[in-house]
Amino acid sequence: MADSNFLNEINNRRTFAIISHPDAGKTTITEKLLLFGNAIQTAGSVKGKRGPHAKSDWMTMEQERGISVTSSVMQFPYKDRTVNLLDTPGHEDFSEDTYRTLTAVDSVLMVIDGAKGVEDRTIKLMEVCRLRDTPILSFINKMDRDIRDPIEVMDEIEDVLKISAAPINWPLGMGKEFKGVYNLYTDTVHVFQSGMGHTINDDLQIKGLDSPEFDQLMGSYADDAREEIELVRGATNEFDLEAYLAGQLTPVFFGTALGNFGVREMLDGFVEWAPAPLGRATHDREVAPTETDFSGFVFKIQANMDPKHRDRIAFMRVCSGAYKQGMKMRHVRIGKDIKIADAVTFLAGDRSSVDEAVSGDIIGLHNHGTIQIGDTFTQGEPLKFTGIPHFAPELFRRIRLKDPLKTKALQKGLQQLSEEGSTQVFFPVNNNDIVVGAVGVLQFEVVAYRLKDEYKVEAIYEPVNVQTARWIEGDNKAIEEIKRKASDNIAIDGGGHLTYLAPTRVNLNLAEERHPDIQFRSTREH
Ligand code: GDP
Repeated sequence: MADSNFLNEINNRRTFAIISHPDAGKTTITEKLLLFGNAIQTAGSVKGKRGPHAKSDWMTMEQERGISVTSSVMQFPYKDRTVNLLDTPGHEDFSEDTYRTLTAVDSVLMVIDGAKGVEDRTIKLMEVCRLRDTPILSFINKMDRDIRDPIEVMDEIEDVLKISAAPINWPLGMGKEFKGVYNLYTDTVHVFQSGMGHTINDDLQIKGLDSPEFDQLMGSYADDAREEIELVRGATNEFDLEAYLAGQLTPVFFGTALGNFGVREMLDGFVEWAPAPLGRATHDREVAPTETDFSGFVFKIQANMDPKHRDRIAFMRVCSGAYKQGMKMRHVRIGKDIKIADAVTFLAGDRSSVDEAVSGDIIGLHNHGTIQIGDTFTQGEPLKFTGIPHFAPELFRRIRLKDPLKTKALQKGLQQLSEEGSTQVFFPVNNNDIVVGAVGVLQFEVVAYRLKDEYKVEAIYEPVNVQTARWIEGDNKAIEEIKRKASDNIAIDGGGHLTYLAPTRVNLNLAEERHPDIQFRSTREH
């Protein structure tokens, strides 16, 4: 039986990720959240992106590029909750990483640039959230600028993202005239003070819209503001907790991340409404977070977080029970029990070792090559968590060595990088080529860089006549037939799966017609 302490711990967990289009303000809002979580002293020191301390050579490259390739985990306390924030790479070339990270959270925060409205990346990420009906809370950012009409932005969220939007607060003015936000539910105005972005400022409040203080704050705009808010009340959805938890309605907050305003209100709403750890599906049954036996799955592997150790960390979402230092876990795929003595967690970007982690928490396991994305760990039960996707690549290159004596190192490097999900590798059955596949073109550069940096292999890319790939499945007879008739197109991927490499879409369509008993899959579960 789970004791009440354990249940409390789980109920207080809130595990989420931020989704946004690049530049909407994800990094900035992360900094402010950590400030509220007391995890950092002053904002402006969060990530490699701008921070002064490079954690590894790998991150040096990331810094130079000014993009965030890595995704890490930050845990911080807020009120009586323990919040786990999973960072996701902003650049679309690393979207696979983001998709997989979204399988490890229970809800998301969607940050929208108020001046730009709903942008491409947000639309794509929203589609991924919809697969699991992930609850979404929204923050419309950059109110200190002249943004678009807030009503228009709300409409766009509803029309483009196909989700109901319920404003929790409403902005009073914008840009230079931004005065604050009015909470539609508590009938309170929170007054904006500029120049306070790096600290936690006092929450200056005015009660009600008919108070003299409100008139004083708004000056000649006071009547207009009262009218607009009446209109907004009539024209927008009311917040409905159940609809939010079902992923059908998003509560919307307005503010400015840079000015650290509106963030506190959003965070307060988040810790109150966001779901505690949810159950997770396996092949056989759903695992409840309150089960006492430990279970978890790996959604991400990241190399070289610490240049001194050259290690790889496997990020695991705990789905039930508790991790305790030194415990034994069953690595289900390879059927072995292993002792985990030194799992790590990431407190505001710094690694520290954890004694205990419960459902909803993320722990990092040191990986010496035996852990792959999608692996399940339990206390003995042969479970397999489902829904961790792997996407067919859309870009392909042949990879060749400058020094032919380094074939072994190249294969090892590619094998490891593909296990991490950094790239995908294919070995055609009819020749000795090695084909590398990626979802985004930056992945190729990253792979070349890392091969050189970590595996001391200099490799060059050449064009290859492959346009798309599909994992193939079917009964033995069908597989034997396609292997015989289309052997030039058959390859084995890094995980040992049979793959069809198609030079054109037309070729793929033909192959599908010719081999009706084969399933051609564009995604594969790990
Ligand atoms: P990310 O790419 O989503 O992580 O976006 P960043 O947090 O790096 O923000 C992109 C740019 O927008 C940076 O120059 C920020 O300083 C700026 N920014 C973020 N939030 C605000 C805001 O509330 N107001 C204004 N004016 N700029 C902001």
